[in-house]
Amino acid sequence: MKTDWETRRDIVACARQVYEKGIVAATDGNISYRMMTDRIMITPAGKSFGNLSTDDLAYVDIDGNILTFEQKPSSELPMHLEIYRQRPDVNAVIHAHPPFATALTLTGNSLSDPILPEVVMMFGEIPTAPYATPSTQESAESIRHLIKDHDAILLDHHGAVTYGSSLDDAYLKMEKLEHTAKTILAAKTLGTPKILDGDQLNKLKELKNKSSYGKHIVESLFTAN
Ligand code: 13P
Ligand code: ZN
Repeated sequence: MKTDWETRRDIVACARQVYEKGIVAATDGNISYRMMTDRIMITPAGKSFGNLSTDDLAYVDIDGNILTFEQKPSSELPMHLEIYRQRPDVNAVIHAHPPFATALTLTGNSLSDPILPEVVMMFGEIPTAPYATPSTQESAESIRHLIKDHDAILLDHHGAVTYGSSLDDAYLKMEKLEHTAKTILAAKTLGTPKILDGDQLNKLKELKNKSSYGKHIVESLFTAN
């Protein structure tokens, strides 16, 4: 298990990566990490990932009780907690505003069609949650029905949330989601992207069951996990 210090260091490194990749701007986004069954470290409300410090992070318990009073936890805490409650396998959650993925939702487009083989392998489907007012309990409610079967969700007119066993895992899913959105948008400027057929999908399903694809073999992006 990571120490308090390692968790702070890794969340700040992850936030910087998200910021430098252009997946957020200004004070967009939030990141959390489950330290123990009942204890979660989360980025503060209203602070840019570009200059986040290890002292800025807040501690909460699984019921949302704030355990550190100098730092105000992210306004999207209810959404993070909903994911941890439903998914004991999840230790890290990232919410961001990836511009290309968000642009798809603004125009009624989605990432739910099976078009790219590696995306089918990694995610199955990336659904879009119905519109919710950001920074309210509505965010948690809008994704509630999707959490169990998905590790990446687009938030209509808002952004995306990804989660996984580690910060690396959640980050790579966010990076891949945005890259997928870019590819689909590029394809749409050229024509209508072709959806994979049943036979192609069955082969991918078989391969997924047999291989380690999508189960991240990356040692660590943000130091020790
Ligand atoms: P916080 O600054 O409260 O984490 O909110 C950012 C955000 O993206 C809200 O949806
Ligand atoms: Zn947001």
